[in-house]
Amino acid sequence: MDFQWYPGHMTKAKRMMQENMKLIDIMIELVDARIPLSSRNPDVDQLAAGKYRLILLNKSDMADERVTAQWEEYFKSKGFFVAKTNSKAGKGVKATQNIIMEACKEKLERDKKRGIKNRPIRAMIAGIPNVGKSTFINSLVGRACTKTGNKPGVTKGKQWIKLNKNIELLDTPGILWPKFEDQMVGLRLALIGSIRDEILNQDEMALELICYLKEHYPSILSDRYDVEESEDKVKILESIAINRNCKLKGDELDYTKASKILLEEFRNGKLGKISLEIPEVEEA
Ligand code: GDP
Repeated sequence: MDFQWYPGHMTKAKRMMQENMKLIDIMIELVDARIPLSSRNPDVDQLAAGKYRLILLNKSDMADERVTAQWEEYFKSKGFFVAKTNSKAGKGVKATQNIIMEACKEKLERDKKRGIKNRPIRAMIAGIPNVGKSTFINSLVGRACTKTGNKPGVTKGKQWIKLNKNIELLDTPGILWPKFEDQMVGLRLALIGSIRDEILNQDEMALELICYLKEHYPSILSDRYDVEESEDKVKILESIAINRNCKLKGDELDYTKASKILLEEFRNGKLGKISLEIPEVEEA
């Protein structure tokens, strides 16, 4: 959570990824299933040009299943292989090995034709901070892994984790940076708790969340906080403050406390499985 984005960091992270790109066959990019676009940096497409691509919709346990299915279709239509994972619980994680093989089928066939045997597929995991890269790698690798040391032809110092006889994984994930230029991207990242809160005003964030929920998930707010959803956002926040007894000295309502409660309950999944981004249907 303490990640800070200095230009120097970004340049270094990008350079490392560029160097490693030469070594891999497939780029496995983790995104947050609740905000699949805001949690990726589209520059990765250029960086990973010519590589096989797999997108993992991670933290799918927190996202709206119906919307996640739409995202699967969306990325497939853009030519990606896609899978959904819950790395924390290990769900869908092992199955990614088969998808990696499927994605690299062409290369395996090419190798076969050339008489090359036993050349493993090499993969890199990448994603923005907090998207679940370490959790995914730990879940995928488990204990049964063996690290392969430096091999001839491999840049010195690179460590490969052997997943099975066919797949090797670079042990350090690539770090992408979010693209903050669009204000909504920053807001969504902050709402899911991926960037530090202090940057944005809590009350504003809560009001934005209220608007979104009212529109896309009717009755979630009224069920939990006994509010009238037809009211405007400020009135709803006020009702949440009353419902949760958020008061300042002298019985004045504490909006900031109510905002914090709403944001925390959203992030802890207490409001249910909610997606903050829905793919736009492109006109044919
Ligand atoms: P990294 O910065 O990309 O390596 O992210 P981490 O692996 O450190 O994960 C960030 C946080 O997200 C941790 O608190 C993880 O427990 C949590 N996390 C990772 N994957 C999942 C998932 O699939 N579902 C849920 N609910 N939490 C996850």
